[in-house]
Amino acid sequence: MDDTTIIVGAGLGGLSAAIHLAIQGQRVIVFEKNERVGGKLNIVQEARYIFDTGPSLLTMPWTIRETFTAAGRNVEDYLELLPVEPTCRYFWPDNTQFNAWQQLPLLTQEIARLEPADVLGMFRFLHYSAQIYDIVADAFLLRPFDGMRDLITPDLVSKGWKIDAFRSVDTAVRSFFRSPYLQQIFNRYATYNGSSPYLSPATFNVIAYIEFTEGGWYIRGGMYELGRALLRLSQELGVEVHTQTEVRSLINEQGIARGVRLSNGKQIEAAQVVVNADPRYTYAGISRRSHQLHHADQPLLAGSPRIARQMTRLEPSCAGFIILLGINRTYEQLAHHNIFFSQDYPREFAAIFAKGVPAPDPTVYVCNTSLTDPHHAPPGHSNMFILVNAPTLNARVNWDREVGNYRDVILRKLERMGLSDLRRHIVYEQIITPADFEARYNAVGGAIYGLASNSRFAAFLRPPLRARDTKRLYFVGGGTHPGGGIPLALLSGKAVAERIKQDSHRIK
Ligand SMILES: Cc1cc2nc3c(=O)[nH]c(=O)nc-3n(C[C@H](O)[C@H](O)[C@H](O)COP(=O)(O)OP(=O)(O)OC[C@H]3O[C@@H](n4cnc5c(N)ncnc54)[C@H](O)[C@@H]3O)c2cc1C
Repeated sequence: MDDTTIIVGAGLGGLSAAIHLAIQGQRVIVFEKNERVGGKLNIVQEARYIFDTGPSLLTMPWTIRETFTAAGRNVEDYLELLPVEPTCRYFWPDNTQFNAWQQLPLLTQEIARLEPADVLGMFRFLHYSAQIYDIVADAFLLRPFDGMRDLITPDLVSKGWKIDAFRSVDTAVRSFFRSPYLQQIFNRYATYNGSSPYLSPATFNVIAYIEFTEGGWYIRGGMYELGRALLRLSQELGVEVHTQTEVRSLINEQGIARGVRLSNGKQIEAAQVVVNADPRYTYAGISRRSHQLHHADQPLLAGSPRIARQMTRLEPSCAGFIILLGINRTYEQLAHHNIFFSQDYPREFAAIFAKGVPAPDPTVYVCNTSLTDPHHAPPGHSNMFILVNAPTLNARVNWDREVGNYRDVILRKLERMGLSDLRRHIVYEQIITPADFEARYNAVGGAIYGLASNSRFAAFLRPPLRARDTKRLYFVGGGTHPGGGIPLALLSGKAVAERIKQDSHRIK
């Protein structure tokens, strides 16, 4: 088993790491507790409807292309990547609407309709955020990052002020846009990594820059096609993938990771272990609040109480409350991606992050993939993936009790904002709460992106790719560097494979 790498979890980070390690010629075995790969990228197929239940918007599609290119393949032989136009349609309670077109002439017209002065504001914003991108892409995204020492490069020290880490996303956004509608749109990008625009540093304005310059994308057939394609590629490269195989604990011999113990009692040895599961669960376990206890509550790596304490102090990203609806009609006003904004955005984030309760008037995201993929619903019907940001599990919210009320709050809001009689047209319905996310993926508290970026120090506090206390143990995915979301999870897989290669050379 000398050159074998074991990967715990077949989320996007785990699959990406498996592919990059297999390209290096390593033997790779992946153990995934669930019945299918993809982790939070998941799918429900019920009653002739198909729903993606995790990510729905793809940014930085080049990260997918590069994963296939690295293996000498063409992504087009596996996936069809489609730009979505408009990237998103926004709705406000006063009936204002906005289309975030990818085509610049259309976008500028749309901005001018809301506030003519903001056309110039948008160009200024793009110029400003391009500078942030140039620095953070090099410092955080494209280079494997292990901690402070990696980050403090001469380039970052000399240009560091340009990353705008001392203002919040909101303060910076307000300095570029007069229209409260555009301010709300640009603030929303902080939620792409599960954070609040009122807390996270303005550096994260880079997310809007990326979407406005590279576009928002979809995968023909549904986002889950990415899970299928990565599985196919990894198997073509010889990776062994075992689904429905839970890892119970890591074998740690005097501070060196030597393999894993499976829940079925087997022990498998390896030269190194890469954990794609949540690092907080890895060190501190999960104390389940509304699910029956079972052995996954135990940490994968016991015996590191100091790191376990550090992990529990890290702020998780927000969780999500999801309603999947099969509807026996279509709503002409819906685009592929739609946002129904709340009236009071600061209050909404204060509820989620400060009070830890569901926002009474939430911003509601509706993804209508049947518009692009008609086979996702029967003819004349439509599918709706409805997502609301929610607090991670805490003692103030009992989701078992809240679920029905909150579902009604959300559906009534959509009816008020134009989806008339929505509840009367429901043919299929399924609700996914933060407790379900925690139970399905061992994502502590049901956090959907891993860790929040609600402070300027968050990037430095993320668990590193190389475990601090255990040799030959690595992390990959949204819980480590560079962060959550499809593109970053894929980049994380590439980065960890590079780390392992460096370390193997050092040992030999
Ligand atoms: C509702 C929702 C909406 C989102 N929207 C977007 C979006 O639009 N765009 C975007 O880019 N990103 C989005 N994201 C975020 C994105 O899905 C995640 O950041 C990314 O998929 C996380 O990948 P990961 O590598 O961290 O692994 P995860 O998906 O967390 O996978 C970890 C895997 O480890 C497995 N595992 C855990 N414990 C064990 C164990 N003991 N033994 C074996 N296996 C184990 C889990 O089952 C899981 O499969 C969204 C996420 C959610 C949930």
